[in-house]
Amino acid sequence: MKISERSIVNIGSVCNINCKHCYYYRQNRAWKSLLWILANILLIRICRMKDIDITGGEPSIYPHIDLLVWWCEILGFREIRLVTNGVRYRKLEQLSKRPRVRFSVSIHSHIQYNLYRLTGHINLYELIHKFIFKCSSRINYVNCVITPYNTDIENILDILKPFKTPVMLCIKALDYHYDHAIKYFKFSEYRIALNNALRKAPENQRIDIRFFPFCVLDKDNFERKNIKCCSSKTNVYDPMDWNPVISREAPLRRWLMFIFGSDKVREKVSLEQALYRKTTDDVMVKQCFECSEKDTCDGIQNEYLKKFGDKEFIPFCE
Ligand code: SF4
Repeated sequence: MKISERSIVNIGSVCNINCKHCYYYRQNRAWKSLLWILANILLIRICRMKDIDITGGEPSIYPHIDLLVWWCEILGFREIRLVTNGVRYRKLEQLSKRPRVRFSVSIHSHIQYNLYRLTGHINLYELIHKFIFKCSSRINYVNCVITPYNTDIENILDILKPFKTPVMLCIKALDYHYDHAIKYFKFSEYRIALNNALRKAPENQRIDIRFFPFCVLDKDNFERKNIKCCSSKTNVYDPMDWNPVISREAPLRRWLMFIFGSDKVREKVSLEQALYRKTTDDVMVKQCFECSEKDTCDGIQNEYLKKFGDKEFIPFCE
């Protein structure tokens, strides 16, 4: 299997909406310096990455976004994907004219009222759907975070209806390591609805399940080929995901091996980095030793366990 040739550059936390589940909900909002961003993109290319995601904040409101896309083009990236909320659809439509530009769009509910409760904006649904209508052929990824403001979980796959071609839907749980405005929302509140929704997923749609321990899925959904439970280890091989070595957490030795190494060495250090992340304090794997998936699953977030304990998680047994 080939390792992922995609990486990501985060250009800062400025955004035109303010979702309650966002990593940056209570943080000061600022762009990173242009020089830092350009240097990071160059470094990613030096690492022989072929695809790049530009995230923020909201990249379409970044004052130098045209320059960044141009920089990625001249460095020879195969795909330049903007991670967007779709609100500034005229600017995004203009950017979509560049042949290598693609979009990952975040839609955290397909119900207008819920989007209003989540963000405080009254016309978000129309703006996002204008963007989808104009740029659907350039969108290859849809992000959807499950929150108390995204209550229509049984019909979550309706989010994909406006797309004429299959796209990847990434369903995310709240990441409890961030201080956002949603503090208490247990898996058990939506687990049955989520599993029922996934049973309705057509075979030609790929669904990524992210920040969830694998056992949040019922076994039949877990075994479906078009549903992927993301973990640090499985992401190493996913072309839609980011190679873990391109991270500030990676030691210099791994960077150097990755830049100069053969394909085998690059795979080895990518996996090492993924597993290094797995053993940080972010997850707890206490009761998982009897689980058949313990070597791949990232376990349960520590912050989640502090809030709710581990009673909801039943290991898969062989
Ligand atoms: S390893 Fe632990 S968290 Fe992961 S599926 Fe098994 S029981 Fe659940």
